[in-house]
Amino acid sequence: MRRPIFAANWKMNLRRGEAEAYAGRLHEALPALPAAEVVLFPPFPLLAVMAELLAGTPYAWGGQDLHPEDTGPHTGDVSALHLLDWQASWVLCGHSERRAEHGETDELVAAKVAQALRRGLQPLLCVGETEAERESGATEVVLERQLSAAAPTGGGAWTLAYEPVWAIGTGRTATPDLAQEAHAFLRAVTAKRLGREQAEALRVLYGGSVKPENSASLIAQPDIDGFLIGGASLDPDSFLDIIRRCASVRPSRT
Ligand code: PEP
Repeated sequence: MRRPIFAANWKMNLRRGEAEAYAGRLHEALPALPAAEVVLFPPFPLLAVMAELLAGTPYAWGGQDLHPEDTGPHTGDVSALHLLDWQASWVLCGHSERRAEHGETDELVAAKVAQALRRGLQPLLCVGETEAERESGATEVVLERQLSAAAPTGGGAWTLAYEPVWAIGTGRTATPDLAQEAHAFLRAVTAKRLGREQAEALRVLYGGSVKPENSASLIAQPDIDGFLIGGASLDPDSFLDIIRRCASVRPSRT
């Protein structure tokens, strides 16, 4: 059984005071929270705040990006070593906003995934097709290309997120059937590349306008193992609501 993951991608939102209040809500919710793996991806300057306020809790946190090298003349970039300084254990790689706004190629995303694993961070590799790619029937070609380029082959824990670009921040969630079809395809591609055992163990998260109201029907799908949540994760109560609603559909083992 794959343990569900609920990941909050704050993107370039929330400020220090809001992050402190958010951490307070997470503390309050903890005693009654169903067992689940919960990961927060705050903006870089707030990693220190979350590291301080969530130390010793079961909540985990990570960076929204990293540079493929440890150090060097890369103005504005952040190294895996910085993330580790703030006890981050995860990092997003290949989010569609990085691919679109910063021109990240499959090769660069692959280098970031490799660096994350080298430094002991768990990469959450994001893949997904644009609306034009889906409409032209290219969804599977795009997903297979993005996954094959960056999926690690040498071991180390990693997680995959299917994030159809047309569903991110648009309020247009993929239907459970459509998402399940893409997740099953990604698992089949993984099995072809890495073997059945690794594919069955791989957690594949869905991301794209997940809200409390649509979360239970999505997590009921056999190949959906949790969510990467943007907009609905900015309010801790709606993020926690998603975790609670999913627990009865897809209980965690621990
Ligand atoms: C995301 O950015 O990863 C995301 C899924 O955003 P939203 O939930 O707002 O669509």
